Amino acid sequence: MARIAFIGLGNMGGGMAANLAKAGHDVRAFDLSQDALDRAEAAGCLPVESAAAACEGAEAVVTMLPAGKHVEAVYADSVFAAVPKTALMIDCSTIDVATARRVADAAAAKGLTMVDAPVSGGIGAANAGTLTFMVGGSAAAFARAEGFLANMGKAVIHAGGNGAGQAAKICNNMILGATMVATCEAFVLAQKLGLDPQRFYDIASVSSGQSWSMTSYAPLPGVGPETPADHDYQGGFAAALMLKDLRLAMEAAATADAQTPMGAKAAELYEQFVAADPGHHDFSAIVRMLAGE
Ligand code: NAD
Repeated sequence: MARIAFIGLGNMGGGMAANLAKAGHDVRAFDLSQDALDRAEAAGCLPVESAAAACEGAEAVVTMLPAGKHVEAVYADSVFAAVPKTALMIDCSTIDVATARRVADAAAAKGLTMVDAPVSGGIGAANAGTLTFMVGGSAAAFARAEGFLANMGKAVIHAGGNGAGQAAKICNNMILGATMVATCEAFVLAQKLGLDPQRFYDIASVSSGQSWSMTSYAPLPGVGPETPADHDYQGGFAAALMLKDLRLAMEAAATADAQTPMGAKAAELYEQFVAADPGHHDFSAIVRMLAGE
């Protein structure tokens, strides 16, 4: 079993580090929050006093941080100088493609190997070890990362070179944001036209209108399988995180000169919804705004 540095033990990282420890790895854990460190210790990790201390003697470094600026700072200020030259660095945070490539280039310039490996699946999947990882890096780096990531997920897929994992993640979530808005507005219209929402679900979920947003994540309470809608839109995937991913997609689209009108509309609607929603609800709660509530 390997010695692994784990930096960023928040909602997602806490469960992921716990699963690495459960798999028998020696996990040296660091976070700025003492509460997070205490939870990691209770889950079988060894809390340490700094990111650099976590990296000493590590075979792999895993980071799960809020955004690109945190990732860039943690690697430049702590990880690169402390990590053994043979270590593999795996950033699982969701960040912009350009920063992911810049940090990987900085690692390569120091003779270090890095992959980006953002995840699909929320806190429940992080705790249960059922995340999907989309990995950007060389084939050799992917082969080294796969075993560690398999301890935390149900699927580990090589997306391409450095940054390709982040590209896959934001393109996937751009589809998710747009299909959720489309699904919500269809439910609102169906009801206004006098259709029973469960009956509409029964039809659309086996017709050409079906998508994950419809079939697995129906946005109305009591309709379809159990979803955050059945719990007053608590838990699940916060609308603010959907907005973060849509902003990353819009930024990438502008850089790549890609036309993404549906993604742009979804981003605009989530901007409005998050600004008006102090309750930090699940992203499917946008149905309430579309219903005029
Ligand atoms: P979070 O805010 O709960 O956790 C981030 C952790 O990083 C915090 O505990 C914070 O203290 C720590 N941190 C920040 N700066 C640090 C530093 N310099 N050194 C050490 N620790 C530091 O966020 P989260 O929900 O766990 O999300 C983490 C990443 O995963 C984000 O990029 C997010 O977009 C992505 N993601 C989240 C979800 C989700 O459902 N929450 C799903 C998929 C992807």
